[in-house]
Formats: sequence, C-alpha cells, structure tokens
Amino acid sequence: MTEQTGYPNFAAITMKAIDQFYPQLQTPSRIVVTMHQKPDGDAMGSALGLYHFLVALGHEVTVVSPTNWASFLDWMPGIDMVVDFEQQKEKALGLIQSAHLIFCLDFNVLHRTKNMEAPLLAATCTKILIDHHEQPQAEAFSYGISDTSKSSTCEMVYDFIVQSGNGDILNTTIAQCLYTGVMTDTGSFRFPATTASVHRMVAHLKELGLKHTIIHENIYDNFLENRLRFIGFALMNRLEVFYEYNTALMYITKADLQRYNIKTGDTEGLVNYLLTIQGIRFGALVIDREGERKWSFRSKGAFDVNQFARKHFNGGGHVNAAGGGSYDSLDANVNQFKQVIKAYQNQLQ
Ligand code: 5GP
Ligand code: MN
Repeated sequence: MTEQTGYPNFAAITMKAIDQFYPQLQTPSRIVVTMHQKPDGDAMGSALGLYHFLVALGHEVTVVSPTNWASFLDWMPGIDMVVDFEQQKEKALGLIQSAHLIFCLDFNVLHRTKNMEAPLLAATCTKILIDHHEQPQAEAFSYGISDTSKSSTCEMVYDFIVQSGNGDILNTTIAQCLYTGVMTDTGSFRFPATTASVHRMVAHLKELGLKHTIIHENIYDNFLENRLRFIGFALMNRLEVFYEYNTALMYITKADLQRYNIKTGDTEGLVNYLLTIQGIRFGALVIDREGERKWSFRSKGAFDVNQFARKHFNGGGHVNAAGGGSYDSLDANVNQFKQVIKAYQNQLQ
C-alpha cells in the first residue's frame, strides 16, 4: 500500500474541470457511483444523494460500495440498492465494465477502493472525481473537482447539482443523504471547514423540508450496549498520553475487538475522545484489523496529520483528520509511533 502515484500533481492539466462535464448530464447513461472502502456518512451520503439526483435526471444508476459499511447508515434512502463489491463481485464487475460514466466520490487515490482499484483502472469509460482530500490522483480521472477547502463531499455534490443548473431537482430524499455527510464530516458543524456556505446549504435543505434531528439520532444514538462498554474499556486500558508532545495514543488489539463483538462502524468517533483532553493537539488510534493495522489521526490547529500519515503510515487525508495503514504488527506500529513523534516535539508544543 503506497500513497505515491509516481506522478507529480497533474490536476490542472489532466483532469478537466467539472463544469465541462455538465452538458453530458443531459444524455441518458449507464452510471456507476462509488466511494472509498468502508464508506462513512460522507461517502455513503454523497453517493446516495448523487444517485437520487441522477435517477431523477433519467439515468440508469447503481451505487457500488467497495466493502460493507456501518449499520448506523442502513436507514439511508436507497441504501438497500447499493451493491457491495465484496459480496456481489460478479454483478459489481459487470456494472463497472458496462458503465458509460463512473463517479468516484470522497476519495483521492484509487487504492482507497481496495479491491476495486484494478477494475476501476481497467475501465476505459469517463470517470469523474468529486472529492475534498489532499493530493488527488488526478491523472486517473477525465473530469473532476478536488477542493480541500470543502467541508464534505456532500457539500460538493450539492454544489454539483445547483451549479449544473438542476437545483430544482433537490428534494427531501436528496437532502437527507447530503445532510448526513455534511453533519458527520464537520463533527456536527464544529470543524473549521464549516463555512457560511455550509450553513447556507443546510438552510436550503431545511427549506426543502429536511428534518435534521432524526438524522443525528439515526447516526449517533443507534449503537448497541457492547459498543459503549468497549469505549469504556479502551479509555481505561488502551490510552497513553504523552504530555511532552501534547499527544494521545490509543491502540486496540484483535482480542479487544472480539471480546466486545465490535463491528464495522463501532470504532468510528473513538479517536475524537483523545482530543478532548485539555492541551492535547494530536490524537492517534491504531486498530489491529483483519489483514492490516489501520491508523486514524486527528489534530487541532496547524499540526498537519495528512503529512504525518503520508510520511510514516502510508496514508493521507486532511490537515486535521487523516488515516493510514500498515502490515507490520500492532506492537511494531505502536513502537514506531512512539519513535517518530519525537521529531515533532517542537511542532506539537
Ligand atoms: P478515518 O480516521 O475517519 O478513517 O479517516 C480520516 C480521513 O482520512 C478521512 O477523510 C479518510 O477518507 C482519510 N483516510 C483514512 N485512511 C486513509 C488512507 O489509508 N489513505 C488516505 N489517503 N486517506 C485515508
Ligand atoms: Mn469526506
């Protein structure tokens, strides 16, 4: 797994601007919409929001997810039609091979789609990127927009719909999908990317009849008891704080995941607890997942976890939220982390 594409950033010359794509929306097409593996609220919300929009325009559309997703997303309108690549591989491959257009949402590099990377690379049809992560693999896309200042891919899909002249198609179904991703990616309208235009978008969605309280409940108040007990256990037993670096580290073993019967999505948000400690500016969580050790990094202020994840843990993301992965053991990862943060003492103080 590597973040380097081997190319400089050709975004300006290889990937045509998204507005040049708008005329093609008028031609009925077979379309696949996909997103990063283990889709979160923003990935699934943007994919389903775009799905409902494209269907309303008369296209034949299927959302293909590279993997499964958290069950707290299962209420989302249209999710029962999503094809899980790992569960329905032949069907998904057929859809990818016969698509005229493939929309790639909420990821910057194709390997974020895990085993779908190869079929996506092999597909010769028009690929469109809509994403807000740093350093996109622009050479892989025909058209696209990559804007790291955007709160969420859902906000970008909203812009796509409105700016392509189709704002009248927006309805409460699309609003529910798009609100989900804006809410989750902004930490409920808290992170710095929560701009005035985010609030204007939400105001518009409210005017369309969006009921937002139920979405918060569906996403955040929809866990089983075991998940809460697991968090208690992890905070008590798996947390290390390094005050000299204003850093907190949490590590979760395979046995911990098994003991509490932890499923996809149950660990989402766990890393955020680390930044609730006074003075802590860098939080890192590593989980001993099936096949790899998966890192989540969060920071406050100028400390750039995208760069940190790229440099040390084969990852990337945003300045204040990034992830990474490693095939080394959990112990080796924890030790490596403790070694490498030493070089950042000045930046973290
Ligand atoms: P999370 O910690 O919530 O899994 O991810 C935080 C952010 O980093 C998200 O925007 C996610 O898409 C991105 N991210 C997570 N893991 C990786 C990775 O391995 N590579 C890259 N490029 N981005 C990642
Ligand atoms: Mn996102």
